[in-house]
Amino acid sequence: MFAKIRNRLTLRYAMVMMLLMMAFIVASSAGLLWILYQEEQQDLRSFAEEEAREQAGMYKEKTAFFQLPPKENKDINHGAKIFYYVFDTNRQMAAAEEPSHGIRTGVLRIIHNWDAPDGEVELKKFHLPNGDRAVVMLCSMKIYDESQVLGTIFVGEDISAYYHMLKMLFIMMVIISIIFLIIAAFAGHLLAGKAMIPIKQAFSRQREFVADASHELRTPLSILQTSVEAVQNDDDQKLSPFAIQVLDDMKSEIRRMTKLVTDLLTLARADAGATNIIKEKFDLVAITEPLIHSLQPLAVVKEIDLKMSGDETVPIMADRERISQLLLILVDNAIKYTPAGGRVDVLIKRTAAPKTSVTIAVHDTGEGIPENERKLIFERFYRIDKARSREEGGTGLGLSIAKWIVDVHGGKIKVESTPGKGSTFIVSLPM
Ligand code: ADP
Repeated sequence: MFAKIRNRLTLRYAMVMMLLMMAFIVASSAGLLWILYQEEQQDLRSFAEEEAREQAGMYKEKTAFFQLPPKENKDINHGAKIFYYVFDTNRQMAAAEEPSHGIRTGVLRIIHNWDAPDGEVELKKFHLPNGDRAVVMLCSMKIYDESQVLGTIFVGEDISAYYHMLKMLFIMMVIISIIFLIIAAFAGHLLAGKAMIPIKQAFSRQREFVADASHELRTPLSILQTSVEAVQNDDDQKLSPFAIQVLDDMKSEIRRMTKLVTDLLTLARADAGATNIIKEKFDLVAITEPLIHSLQPLAVVKEIDLKMSGDETVPIMADRERISQLLLILVDNAIKYTPAGGRVDVLIKRTAAPKTSVTIAVHDTGEGIPENERKLIFERFYRIDKARSREEGGTGLGLSIAKWIVDVHGGKIKVESTPGKGSTFIVSLPM
């Protein structure tokens, strides 16, 4: 149980750490990208405006615009560098300061399909022939002479290097985060273990107390029971009808308390791992038959048809005592919670799929168990109807013990039920 809690705590801690790290990575990457975008956007826009003015000025002085052949920017083959293209109104290239060879074709293709409004900066990505990814920022600006449009200038910047750097940074942050996460999970596991030491100690003291108290209560209870029986059997004593009734009530209360104390002791020992499970090979049918036989009088009193079916022999490797106890709990419950005239069927059989196992199914036509209570009934002291359980001599511990027995045998227990129609407890145990 503690190992489970410790693992769960570690998992939660690691998940919180992972979420925080993911949030950090996403926020920092997005932040860096945004800063880069904002800065470059501003630069590009100012550059475009300045260059558009310059080109218009040149046109006025008739010095350069429409005359200069495109000049290639020779010194740039790497890194971010601002480039531009000037097109006249006939979409003819008039002047240019070109980007590196590699991205030239891609940039011209984007410009060719350009439809963004003036001054708006767009981020464009495309693949180069060598498979690399190029990232450019582009913006267009009309060149005016008074109100006459002379042409359009496209200004761009190759930010592939920044982009690549950001990508590498992102990958590095992810790798570092994973390493940190592993270290944090490991540290979390250690710390959770340390934090649980006092809880474990308190829990084990509590367990010892329950075990000791239950154990100590057994002797006085059995003395009480024998004393009451002795008084009841004393022929010389003339008991009034009232005294007889009181003695009867006392006896049934003592029986209930003895059962409670025995159940508590079983669970306390189970918690402490102090119960020896002695596995041996035996026939499950051979121990079920006498048990059903011994419960027949109870069923007859309640007018319940108690039957057993299934395979003729079902060999199993298990603790004989505990399996009998498990059967007793399930069949006893089925009789307790089934009204007069009902039916209880016990089925014992071998199951081949998904793997060879033994199935014990106890079906009743009783009151059934509502869906939301089906898991809870296996918890200690959980009873759907407390008064009813008490009336039937129940303690609320039977199914907890049944579950523990199934668990220590590596099996599974589940309940299927239709409220108002009945329930089936299905146990599957490895052979
Ligand atoms: P109890 O001693 O009260 O029977 P259990 O742990 O054996 O305690 O069962 C827990 C509760 O589950 C019971 O109080 C009852 O409400 C419910 N329950 C158990 N078996 C059946 C059944 N066959 N049909 C309906 N309810 C059941």
